[in-house]
Amino acid sequence: MGEKVILVRIETSPEDIGGMHVAQGILTARGGMTSHAAVVARGMGKPCVSGAGDIKVDYKDKVLRAFGVVVAEGDVVTIDGATGEVMRGAVATIQPRLTGDFARLMKWVDEIRTLGVRANAETPEDARTARRFGAEGIGLSRTEHMFFEPERIVHMREMILARDETARRAALAKLLPYQRADFVELFKIMEGLPITIRLLDPPLNEFLPHRDAEIAEVAAAAGADLNTVRARALDLDEANPMLGHRGCRLGVTYPEIYEMQARAIFEAAAVAAKGGVKVRPEIMIPLVGVKRELDLMKVVVDRAAAEVAKQTGVKTRYKIGTMIELPRAALRAGEIAETAEFFSFGTNDLTQTTYGLSRDDAGYFLTQYLERGVIESDPFITLDRDGVGELMRIGTARGRAARPGLKVGICGEHGGDPASVRFCQEVGLDYVSCSPFRVPIAKLAAAQAALDGLGPKPARKTKHRKRRSRP
Ligand code: PEP
Ligand code: MG
Repeated sequence: MGEKVILVRIETSPEDIGGMHVAQGILTARGGMTSHAAVVARGMGKPCVSGAGDIKVDYKDKVLRAFGVVVAEGDVVTIDGATGEVMRGAVATIQPRLTGDFARLMKWVDEIRTLGVRANAETPEDARTARRFGAEGIGLSRTEHMFFEPERIVHMREMILARDETARRAALAKLLPYQRADFVELFKIMEGLPITIRLLDPPLNEFLPHRDAEIAEVAAAAGADLNTVRARALDLDEANPMLGHRGCRLGVTYPEIYEMQARAIFEAAAVAAKGGVKVRPEIMIPLVGVKRELDLMKVVVDRAAAEVAKQTGVKTRYKIGTMIELPRAALRAGEIAETAEFFSFGTNDLTQTTYGLSRDDAGYFLTQYLERGVIESDPFITLDRDGVGELMRIGTARGRAARPGLKVGICGEHGGDPASVRFCQEVGLDYVSCSPFRVPIAKLAAAQAALDGLGPKPARKTKHRKRRSRP
């Protein structure tokens, strides 16, 4: 009790969430800037070294080995999430403090920048942190992250493993109250600021149960036989989950999933509105590659909105948009924008799909690529202006040509990287969205880019002020 621990895993998955909460930092052998461990740790504001490929983690002997050194459970290590270093022993550290000078700098920054800055947040704690750091809304709420806690993940797994629509609807009915309560809380915390809620996008590998105890738990919750659940989990195991049955593909094949989520959003909006809270939900559909996918999902969302309005008497104004995270979506942005009311570049996946580079496996050889000068920087950390960036330019231009004034943002991890924020200003995006803890640095980078004269100029000072407060 009270001991400081670093969580060491080969890679993390949702059942590590408890360990991640209590750990001071996280170290994984596999992964990279945008894999599960890094994304979740960044959201929690914890240091994380993800994809330390030279380290071999041995769960059986409870040791890690690297370069002939063996570190056993209980030995002290220090990690530096910024450089990726892992050091033996305790290294002296200091806790950064937010002083009056920081507040003054942020005030100057806010006066200068023209790019909006939002946060990626889904839990109430993340949303509060986001507001504390001055985020102007939520640019990405990853709804699958709302189901990591043990009492929820079992029903999420039950839903994924359901053998038919009836069983899936039964599991969804258990998830709906959690989802609705979380949205009520988010609406209250954000007090009228925009919240982009992304509907489920779970790469199945992150959620499938592997251990017998987990399979037994799902079987008990679903009232199903153990062997049936085990067989179904094996059936769903994909060779390449990142390109598999995820994103809106789940919504197209099982529309009841998005129907439940849309219902939870509108019911929560009605509760919040009745309590006097203004709500601005922006419902975002992930991994769209074909306009028709978005059209189908819009029908589901619109229907849920109409039904809830009828039941509650509260009509919520909302927007429907999409992530642009596949090259095809960027190229076909013109037709997608006929339906989408906003775009958000999911540059984690867009980098993965443009390069054909797995975001979970690339850490190891990218280090060698950097050492040999094949690439100048890790494209999962700093946007690849020439390739991914070109797709962003094309997507933005074609989208806005079809729908003038289309709001365009970015919510991949690049949204908190200063060089990438600068590029977003150049392309003329409306806002960047990043982990709450990176909001100040994103704001500073945006102000520097504006000072350097990049990006579109605001027509008049007053107009510019207004745009900033409504990214
Ligand atoms: C992205 O792909 O950039 C994104 C924000 O979505 P996720 O990281 O959840 O896949
Ligand atoms: Mg994505």
